[in-house]
Amino acid sequence: MSATPHTLGELRQARLHTRPVKQEIRDNLVRKLQAGEPLFPGIIGYEDTVIPQLVNAILSRHNFILLGLRGQAKSRILRGLIDLLDEQIPAVPGCEIHDDPLAPLCAACRARIAREGDELPIAWLPRAARFVEKLATPDVTIADMVGDIDPIKAAQAGLNLSDELTMHYGLLPRANRGIFAINELPDLAGKIQVGLFNILQEGDVQIKGYPIRLKLDVMLVFTANPEDYTARGKIITPLKDRIGSEIRTHYPATRANAMAITRQEAWTERAGGLAVSVPDYVREVVEEVAFQARADRKVDKRSGVSQRLPITTLELVVSNAERRALANGEQVVVPRVTDLYAALPSITGKFELEYEGELKGAEQVARDLIRSAVGSVFTGMFEGQDTRSVVEWFDLGGSLPLADTTSADDVVKQARGVQGLVDLTMRAGLAGKPATTGAPFTASAVDFVLEGLYAQKKISRTDDRGYSAAEGAPRRTTRREEPAVEESFQIPGAKKKYYN
Ligand SMILES: [Zn+2]
Repeated sequence: MSATPHTLGELRQARLHTRPVKQEIRDNLVRKLQAGEPLFPGIIGYEDTVIPQLVNAILSRHNFILLGLRGQAKSRILRGLIDLLDEQIPAVPGCEIHDDPLAPLCAACRARIAREGDELPIAWLPRAARFVEKLATPDVTIADMVGDIDPIKAAQAGLNLSDELTMHYGLLPRANRGIFAINELPDLAGKIQVGLFNILQEGDVQIKGYPIRLKLDVMLVFTANPEDYTARGKIITPLKDRIGSEIRTHYPATRANAMAITRQEAWTERAGGLAVSVPDYVREVVEEVAFQARADRKVDKRSGVSQRLPITTLELVVSNAERRALANGEQVVVPRVTDLYAALPSITGKFELEYEGELKGAEQVARDLIRSAVGSVFTGMFEGQDTRSVVEWFDLGGSLPLADTTSADDVVKQARGVQGLVDLTMRAGLAGKPATTGAPFTASAVDFVLEGLYAQKKISRTDDRGYSAAEGAPRRTTRREEPAVEESFQIPGAKKKYYN
């Protein structure tokens, strides 16, 4: 490989042809496909759905739009296109629209090249500088998008079609020879869409009555909520016609995919802190909350439930467990499913409620979602397990006061008093595996079983009395509860959950 050209003369000699950006992206994609390189690393669960369509759109050199609800990795996919650009391309130094030294668009660069000839220095533009992103909002103007001119200067200069000296460039010209991503396209005012279309189709646009010519080379990519996009009148037809492919994104189809995404995105390995070990059933419950929310009629389907819900929820779950471990001097952070209640602040803000949900309130809706998520995961894992002896213990009048701050040792100590409870966690393989021994793991498993039985309505739980027998369950005896035991495990300031 010869040395990188530093002047226009060297560039001409090197015979480096610059290609239109869509051709460049296509060429690089073809090379990756031939080499069997991974495409869009970090995008999980789209291998058989979104990625093939995306590849086809790029091979076809299309502008395209990703249609999907929030939190479906749309922006991430668009940013992933950067990897398909050449590592660097030559440009005229200082040119705001990244002019190709061999084919400059703007009058300033043409004048400069005429003046300096082969001595003109060359700048090399890295690919990250060739991606421009804009969130569409109704107040975005043509000046923001395309540019603006000073009408007085324009009049003085006798501005004509090929003279852009007085132009202040907007985002689209600045994306020249690169990728321009517009998020939430339907929020862009109709007349801005017209401007966008004109510049793409005709290469010129009128600004304040002055025609401006800009033959830009841009790959345009968009995102939109599907309903907004298809709503009549939201997108002007000629612009829609210029979008070659509409690609639908989706939420993870399986719990396993969802867990893989959250595992990748959530900040759970905390450098400088205690070791963190999140049991798989906690991860499953966290995902299941999102699955349940997406299916819940109290939650607005139109706006969706972002994958950011499980991601931030898991982070708070780990933090709550970390707080407990630090307070109790424990050496390993093992989250429990009840830590999800401490994650309500990350759940309630992640969905919009339908009227029925509004009546209940976001917090209650979230609590119900957690309970039914625990129930779903627990039922799947405890299929065929005999839980009767534990339920009977509560039916006989037993009750268990536990708080999310209760130390692992205390939880295990109390659990050992409930016949069959710790055995049940062992049988289900929740605790007792070589990698998961120790009180924090057992305590987490006990907590899962109790919450699971509560979700199945086999035992009840109240904030002031904890876990106890299910409502309406026959009391086998009139054995008295033992408040003395309960008191001994009470931690000041802790919100207790009593199981009975
Ligand atoms: Zn230029």
